[in-house]
Parts: sequence; C-alpha cells; structure tokens
Amino acid sequence: MRLGGLEARGSKMICAVGTEDGVLLDQTIIPTRGPKETMEDVIAYFRDKEIEALGIASFGPVDIHKNSDTYGYILDTPKEAWQHFNLLGTIRDALQVPVELETDMNGACLGELTFGCAKGLDSVVYVSIGTGIGAGIAVNGQLLHGMIHPEAGHMLLRRHPRDGYEGSCPFHATCFEGLASGPAIEERWGRPAEELHNNATVWEMESHYIAQAMVNLILIMSPRVIILGGGVMKNEALFPMIRKRVKKILNGYLNTDEMEDLDKYIVPASLKGNQGVMGCIELARRALVGQQA
Ligand SMILES: [Zn+2]
Repeated sequence: MRLGGLEARGSKMICAVGTEDGVLLDQTIIPTRGPKETMEDVIAYFRDKEIEALGIASFGPVDIHKNSDTYGYILDTPKEAWQHFNLLGTIRDALQVPVELETDMNGACLGELTFGCAKGLDSVVYVSIGTGIGAGIAVNGQLLHGMIHPEAGHMLLRRHPRDGYEGSCPFHATCFEGLASGPAIEERWGRPAEELHNNATVWEMESHYIAQAMVNLILIMSPRVIILGGGVMKNEALFPMIRKRVKKILNGYLNTDEMEDLDKYIVPASLKGNQGVMGCIELARRALVGQQA
C-alpha cells in the first residue's frame, strides 16, 4: 500500500509517503503561506506519488465531524487567510483518493499508538508542549472526539507561589498553555526556553505546572502511558522533575504498577518527531479500509 500523510501545521506542511507498516518512503516540507499557494504545492507533491489514500492531521480549529456541513473546513483561526478554508475538500477533489482527517494532536497520538511507544496500549494521552499546548487522547484504542475534541492545553492550574507572571492565554489567566507554553516561558523570563537550560528556577516552575496537568490527566483519563512531545520537552532534564512532582502531588493516592515506575509511564515521544506524519499514514490506511468496507 502506498499511503500519503499530510501533517498540516501553522508554519509548515509535512508531506510524506509511507506504507501501512509505518515505513516512510519519502518526505518533504512545504512552508505554510496562504491556503491557495500552499495547497497548490501540497497537491503538486502528492500528484505523482501514486498514493491510494491520504491522511491529514491539521492545525485547528478544524471541523472533524463527518456529518457537519463544514466537515474538513478550517474554522475561526487567527490565521485569517485560512478561515473557512475547505482543506479536506480541496485536496480530495484534486487527488481523487479517500481522505481521513484528524486534529494535529490526535494525529500524533495515533502515530504513537500505532507505531510508537504506545503500540498495543488501549488508553493513551499525548501532550505537546511548544508554541501552544495541546493533547491527543485515545480511549479503548479510539481517538477521543466529543463536542469538539479535547482542549486539555487550556485546563486550569494552580499558580506557583513565586510566579508573578500573568499568563499568555488571552482567554484564561492561569491555564496550562498560558503558564507553561514556549511563549509563556519566554515572556516570563525575557528569553526563549532554549537559552534558559541552565537556569534551575525556570524548570522548577515549569515542572510545577506540567506535573499538575499530568496529575489531572491521570486522574480523569487513567491512561496506560502519557507521552510528552513538543519543543519545550526537548529539554530532557524536565522528565525526572515532572515525575518526581507527579508522585508528590498524588501523595500515594494511586497504587498501581504504573505509579511505581513513572520512568516508563511519563515518557518522551518515540518516533523522532515523525509521530504526527506517521499518524497520518495510519489515517490514510483507515480511509482506504473504510472505503472498502
Ligand atoms: Zn487558555
């Protein structure tokens, strides 16, 4: 099977061709500009690749409800040119193959669930901490949808007692993204996260917030594993700090094998940054199977 994957990000389009067992055969990156010129380049890439189906994991907000009149459209995004753009329809009409769509976070979660460190597990949470914070969640092997999709990046957290920063989210003063995203770190400390690696106070505060969010996700979703990706999590020193705080906050409340071995429970993303696009390959496989069923 030759399958196409499109990880549509706000800054770049990652286009790939792969097989159903997760082998990537080809990959290219197209910068995201306006929808017309960007999608022309994306379609041109896939046109001669002989793909049988395409999976898309898109930045949002994107309408992923199949019964909706605006299924596959980008909704009210701050990127004005992309507002109400028919992402799915445009590419499906051009390529004439089955297309399956997910949110970017669910796409990454699916990549880990199918090919990565969550393979074979039933309930998984994938959290990306970078420019924004988002989560993809799988329950009983199914990606979680509902009213829209999980917005765990905006869960409310308790402020660190020594944090005077007001928060970067325009909607909520003390949400996860507002307090712990890359831009929040930069605004609070006056320098980007990658220049602050040696400042222990920065990461003590960061792990305070991430650990609270992990505890909330553990208590609500009871996942088998939590995977942390995104630019901020490239600082691997955060992992032991987060695990230690999670244990402290839970305070012995959960007695499971997983809680005894947090090194294997709260883990880094496993697919060398390809979890999103590999999730798209699996989406494409599902699109093809769905069409044949
Ligand atoms: Zn918020």
